[in-house]
Amino acid sequence: MNEDRNLKKWRAALLAERAALQESSSATSQRRTPVTLDQQRVGRLSRVNTLQVQAMAQAEEERRQHRLRLISAALSRLGDGEYGYCTICGIDIPEKRLFVDAAAAQCVNCAT
Ligand SMILES: [Zn+2]
Repeated sequence: MNEDRNLKKWRAALLAERAALQESSSATSQRRTPVTLDQQRVGRLSRVNTLQVQAMAQAEEERRQHRLRLISAALSRLGDGEYGYCTICGIDIPEKRLFVDAAAAQCVNCAT
């Protein structure tokens, strides 16, 4: 990877995205906590609704955790001097691809 690619910029972008994900993960942790529903006081429809909201919040959290793993892998590639190279074929990942996804580990050809 050429120095002019400015690794600091990508590191900053990855760190910012990680911070935002961690923040929204902790901001929504309440919604994912299984609630004990009082059968007497809560109607069936609102029970269903509560469980749906919970399931959506959990799916959202899984997506965030997946993204966090990709970001952390990208940060360790940065530390190893491997950042910006396709992990499969080794070519330079075009900068415009990194703009779309700073955690991209593969070139477009290998990723598809
Ligand atoms: Zn490749």
